[in-house]
Amino acid sequence: MAADVGASRIRVGLFDESLRLLKVRVSETPRENPVEGIPRRLREMVVEVVGGSLDSVRGVGVASIGLIDHRRGMITHAPNIPGRDVRLFKELSNIMEAEYFLLNDCNAAALGEWWPRRRETDSLTYITISTGIGGGVVDKGRLVLGKDGNAVEIGHIVIDPSGYMRCGCGGVGHWEAYCSGANLPRYVKRLLEDGVLPSGTRLGREAEARGLTSERIYRLYYEGDEAASKLFERLRDLYSSGIASVINSFDPEILVIGGSIALGNKGFFSEEVYPRLGKYLVGEPPKIDEPIHGEHAPLYGAALTVHEDIEDARVREP
Ligand SMILES: [Zn+2]
Repeated sequence: MAADVGASRIRVGLFDESLRLLKVRVSETPRENPVEGIPRRLREMVVEVVGGSLDSVRGVGVASIGLIDHRRGMITHAPNIPGRDVRLFKELSNIMEAEYFLLNDCNAAALGEWWPRRRETDSLTYITISTGIGGGVVDKGRLVLGKDGNAVEIGHIVIDPSGYMRCGCGGVGHWEAYCSGANLPRYVKRLLEDGVLPSGTRLGREAEARGLTSERIYRLYYEGDEAASKLFERLRDLYSSGIASVINSFDPEILVIGGSIALGNKGFFSEEVYPRLGKYLVGEPPKIDEPIHGEHAPLYGAALTVHEDIEDARVREP
């Protein structure tokens, strides 16, 4: 049994002993009072997906947005969820005796993506470039988790010490504050206001009239908008320097890059971002691969915590 708790959606999946996904349900993440709402929704969804007796469930592994405290089974604080200390397992543990496991969603995704490649390598790094930017690392066949389970929060590496942009976490100059899906429109707006980008083209006019989404910004670049072209000269280096910093930190054999921005703009990344990595790399580049499990990668990782009884992810006080 596995779940993936995201800022906008919760997924619950039922897996069999050979790790096949038998059934999956998706529901919106409760926005009102999430401290009570998320544990309750999780319990309801698990009960619905199991369908019969809860005694048949060996364990529940959860992949969650963070920050987390994996020993206590809680989200301590997440930039996109109001409230603190969401005790994910408090409702489930009232109705079922089971083993509980918790990983940060990107660490879970790294595990989920490494598993089908485990005969090929024991060193894999995962990066998602999506609403936010996150990552996970498997090294020598073991997840790198840090003291509370929040290691490899790569969206918050500092790529600009001048601090031009403030991140959703409150820090300044963080990578995802510039080029994640949620933050790219804010970065563009600021560049237009400061006159760094010319405001007379469609990019500027649309930003003024109705605001921009990341998808629209990419579209305008593909259509040859002059200001968007100037913007993407910056973005190429923001993406490639960030990715290279992650490679320099962990020296993976395989680097899996997923997330809606990277997968929705494959041509841009393979032709304009990856070829620039060498400019920033200290060692040999890894093989770059696409995710096998797509959006279900965190769910597979969560299922693996139960399947493989991963001690590092075990919840001590559900
Ligand atoms: Zn940050």
